[in-house]
Amino acid sequence: MTWTFRIGRVAGIDVKLHWTFLILLGWVFLSYFRQSGELADGLTGVGFILALFGCVVLHEFGHALAARRYGVNTRNIVLLPIGGVANLERLPEEPKEELIVAAAGPAVNVVIAVMLAAIIAATGGLPDQETLESITLPSGRNFLIGLLSVNILLVLFNLIPAFPMDGGRMLRAVLSMKFDRAKATNIAAKLGQALAIVFVFLGFFGNFWLVFIGLFIYLGAGGENRAVGMQALLEGYHVADAVMHQYTALNVHQTLDYAVSVLLDGQERDFVVLDDGEPAGILTRDDLIRGLKEHGRDGRIGQVARRPDLLELDADSELQLAYQQLRASSTPICFVRDAMGRISGVLNLENIEEVLLLRRALGNTKNRL
Ligand SMILES: [Zn+2]
Repeated sequence: MTWTFRIGRVAGIDVKLHWTFLILLGWVFLSYFRQSGELADGLTGVGFILALFGCVVLHEFGHALAARRYGVNTRNIVLLPIGGVANLERLPEEPKEELIVAAAGPAVNVVIAVMLAAIIAATGGLPDQETLESITLPSGRNFLIGLLSVNILLVLFNLIPAFPMDGGRMLRAVLSMKFDRAKATNIAAKLGQALAIVFVFLGFFGNFWLVFIGLFIYLGAGGENRAVGMQALLEGYHVADAVMHQYTALNVHQTLDYAVSVLLDGQERDFVVLDDGEPAGILTRDDLIRGLKEHGRDGRIGQVARRPDLLELDADSELQLAYQQLRASSTPICFVRDAMGRISGVLNLENIEEVLLLRRALGNTKNRL
């Protein structure tokens, strides 16, 4: 079961909604509805949240379209109750490009805020402080005023110079102009974590939300630091250095019963599936169990192993890139083609991690494996 569903496709990028988002809408509807008992008030609240997330989607498209300028595709944009995520295939590593891609999101909210401010100014300006504070329902002009304030908050929140916020990436990009990427990430992550601790501390004495934001940043910063540390170690390696030549390939026409015997016979858990020697799918242990329930022992491997997101890599492509693609992909294993275009082996994350372990053990960065 996937927890997201597609709500549309814009500029070639799927926009998906996490189903928990619907809970947020329901909750907002009820809380406004209960205040007055008016259906219209509940719908106004929902409308405001939809407009707010419309701004979040535009923010994510800012990142996605900036990345496209540098040849980086975006797999999709997912909306969660806590915000949006643009799943880029990879991050541009050129510092200037990363800076622009990271800044493009908040820049969109700056543009929206300026436009809203212009409309509000042209239609009579902001009401006085007292009236502002008494606003409980974002309707009419208050709708625009509310939207202006959340766009300003989105800009400020995203510019916090800590991973995983856009500001953290911008900081890393600026630092990468002076230091190497791993060191720049390390400095940015440490700074982010220090800031996170300050947030948590302040949160206990004031706004409790700061505690959540602090924890979120603390965990995000640590994760990014580890991932980039691995990236740096992989530098200079190619897929051919990590590829597995010994693996079991299954065929779409074989029975699930046969797949069971292969699974029980060895250590492998994820299998590549071929059709006429060409990649046709992946069969994981979970796929197999599901297939047995649905089709029985005589079901064909092709009935459960087909998937749209097969990953193929060239043996001479960089291992760093392969690592990013495998991490981002939903397939646990991918096909590797040699220079002649033949399937020469398979690759999974464990293999890449083994290369890293061996490299660490050898210590010497000049020692190629
Ligand atoms: Zn962003």
